[in-house]
Amino acid sequence: MLIVMQPGATEPEVDAVIARLVEKGFDVHRSTGAERTVLGAVGHIQNSDPRIFEDLPGVFEVVRISEPYKLAGRTFQPRDTIVSVRGVPVGGEEVVVMAGPCTIETREQMYECAKAVARAGAKILRGGAYKPRTSPYSYQGMGVDGWKLQREVADEFGLATVSEVMDASQIEDALQYVDLLQVGARNMQNFTFLKELGKIRKPVLLKRGLSATIEEWLLSAEYIMAGGNREVILCERGIRTFERYTRNTLDISAIPVIEKLSHLPVVADPSHGTGHREQVAPMALAAAAAGADGLIIEVHPDPDNALCDGPQSLLPEQFTRLMEQLRIIAPAVGKRI
Ligand code: PEP
Ligand code: MN
Repeated sequence: MLIVMQPGATEPEVDAVIARLVEKGFDVHRSTGAERTVLGAVGHIQNSDPRIFEDLPGVFEVVRISEPYKLAGRTFQPRDTIVSVRGVPVGGEEVVVMAGPCTIETREQMYECAKAVARAGAKILRGGAYKPRTSPYSYQGMGVDGWKLQREVADEFGLATVSEVMDASQIEDALQYVDLLQVGARNMQNFTFLKELGKIRKPVLLKRGLSATIEEWLLSAEYIMAGGNREVILCERGIRTFERYTRNTLDISAIPVIEKLSHLPVVADPSHGTGHREQVAPMALAAAAAGADGLIIEVHPDPDNALCDGPQSLLPEQFTRLMEQLRIIAPAVGKRI
């Protein structure tokens, strides 16, 4: 951390800042220039709020130098993490595609979806059994029976599964039926839940919160990792902006930013990121071109009658076409499908 003093800061003001830094356990290196004094503080910022120093008399600015997340950061681990989801490696050369309906409805629906997405090259079957709906009157999901159904169908087609877990009470069942436990956008900062997920030894797909900064998102990953679970995959699913022609604004720029800051895999969700079927394929291709390690895409055999998110779900043939296009884009950025 650097403390930049105001040009006219007095010697007693500088001394008072140094004293406070030493009191907080920092080693202080002072450099006095012609215009102003800069104090370099080496130590653990974790235990002290930078505002303590910002508000001291004579201080102009406090600049943090090291990132607040450690386990999730590239400084801690320079090489990429590859997370294995039931043997499917996420974070390596392959762009791993997860696809399926927003919510699990019937055996026929899951069967049709699994057959189509497996044939097109998806490796992981998505499907929600517990749905975080904005309205309590909207369909809430099948619960554990949905997970059983998803497991059966996925096994028939040799697919792994991903599904949202909404609270700690659902973890035990999820461990039995689900290969990749999804933390929804609305739960990204449910810290007690994240701590519980730190105790398990199964991969977690951590969606970015609706208005979360990348740093907050990485700190949420840190919560899970600090508990001992290092198998975290990040998912950019769009953030809330002032734009209304899209459901959310898919922040493609988050992909190279994460790539730089963190060794964790990052995937994109162009379905929730746009909310409209015709926007899904272009944004999926853009995310792959930006270097995403995977995609999670909603597909439904009868989207007009889907119980949830039909308007943003691709028809199976649209998904197949997208996979063909991804096979062209991925090699251009050194990846494959
Ligand atoms: C979902 O994937 O079905 C979902 C509800 O996603 P999010 O948490 O990103 O809204
Ligand atoms: Mn959905």
